[in-house]
Amino acid sequence: MPEPSTPPRNDRLLRERVHDPYKARRKLPEPTVCPSCGAVWLNGRWSWAEAPAGAAEYICQACQRIADSYPAGEVTMSGSFLAAHRDEIIGLARNQEELEKGEHPLNRIMAIDDQGGEGLLITTTDIHLPRRIGEAVHRAYGGDFEFAYDEAGYFVRVTWHRDS
Ligand SMILES: [Zn+2]
Repeated sequence: MPEPSTPPRNDRLLRERVHDPYKARRKLPEPTVCPSCGAVWLNGRWSWAEAPAGAAEYICQACQRIADSYPAGEVTMSGSFLAAHRDEIIGLARNQEELEKGEHPLNRIMAIDDQGGEGLLITTTDIHLPRRIGEAVHRAYGGDFEFAYDEAGYFVRVTWHRDS
């Protein structure tokens, strides 16, 4: 388990240094559409563009991770404050997901699971959304926020805790 560390300012640093094991091994033809979510690979990136006629088909890595229940990141939230403000906090997390996913179609919430009365576990398809959610919750509600990145395992773990 790696020590919690300060996240780098630029997500791109993270993206270039490590390799997502779910990323397509071959270069995808352009255009390619994911038949599961409809994201389109064009001009070297995924977007929510309309799929052009004759596009190739390939299940994107977000849909593949969802199918495998194999998240790339998680946010664990806990504390009595969470218990009292659960709906607001989930709403905030969903809101961050909408913003992130609009720009980066493969960055999504996979599941939101109750961990008993004072706990919540959010899993994601990517390594960027957990920090975004954690920072947003921390900005809105204070509490203790930690971020840990396991480079070898290509996995991000964020924890947030607040008692009332
Ligand atoms: Zn997809």
